[in-house]
Amino acid sequence: MTAQIIDGKAISQKVRDEVKAHVAAFVARHGRAPGLDVVIVGEDPASLSYTKNKEKMAKEAGMNGKLHKLPAETSEEELLALIAALNADPAVDGILVQLPLPEQIREERVLDSIDATKDVDGFHPVNAGLLMSGRPGLVPCTPKGCMRLLAECGASLKGARAVVVGRSNIVGKPMAHLLLAEHATVTIAHSRTKDLPGLCREADVLVAAVGKARMIPGDWVKPGAIVIDVGINRTADGKLCGDVDTEAAKENAAWITPVPGGVGPMTIACLLENTLIAAERRLLA
Ligand code: NDP
Repeated sequence: MTAQIIDGKAISQKVRDEVKAHVAAFVARHGRAPGLDVVIVGEDPASLSYTKNKEKMAKEAGMNGKLHKLPAETSEEELLALIAALNADPAVDGILVQLPLPEQIREERVLDSIDATKDVDGFHPVNAGLLMSGRPGLVPCTPKGCMRLLAECGASLKGARAVVVGRSNIVGKPMAHLLLAEHATVTIAHSRTKDLPGLCREADVLVAAVGKARMIPGDWVKPGAIVIDVGINRTADGKLCGDVDTEAAKENAAWITPVPGGVGPMTIACLLENTLIAAERRLLA
């Protein structure tokens, strides 16, 4: 079997087009565009490029996007004061604080200070709790994007065996809850899991969110499985690769996401979707 490729770039464009059309309708109804404010502290080039891209994509979707660039020596209190101002600003529907933050700032304290209704990253404990309870909240963008990729390739999740490798709060755990909500039977694996190869071989849906280059070889993939590779790693020669050995896994999988061009482009599309959802819900509140 040679797997079909799940084209994250094309699906991301489709999501962004959908969002753009909804934003136009939102503007026509309410006389203003949804607003996404992105906050970055420091000069890390990769983080700067991510945040600029988020601002650009928000504008392309017809939203008001504002980038707040703070110096690396910003104190926790100064950052909290900015977030309090954004929380209080009715024109701001979504707030995203780019991670990581400099060491003098406690990440948890900052993320917890964001109004949960504007928490478009879906990292606030209130949103994590809503997801776990199966109630509507704001869902973390990367796992949300993975679910859209599964939907686009027609995955039948009801009763499927799903294995999520990785248990972070931003990818692994929310991904498992989203699969559970779709009636998959879900196992979460992590660094202490015994017989990871055997577990992966049982998976109809295999999600890899570890951050170790090509750690999942092709023969861990069940014939006919759908493989979602969240990992973004750099090889010794500077190229990007996922957590799965894609070329080998293609021999067994029915569908697989490439790296780059799979999950990556979905994250930003789902961020825009979350901003639109936040704007609409806040009007109803
Ligand atoms: P974390 O480092 O927070 O979590 C990694 C998880 O992998 C942990 O739960 C860890 O287990 C587990 N793990 C580590 N080693 C092994 C192993 N040998 N076997 C099984 N499990 C293992 O990473 P993130 O969740 O933040 O990110 C994961 C990957 O996804 C990274 O490559 C990241 O760059 C990428 N990513 C991609 C995004 C995108 O937009 N495409 C967005 C976010 C992340 P334990 O808990 O026991 O330590």
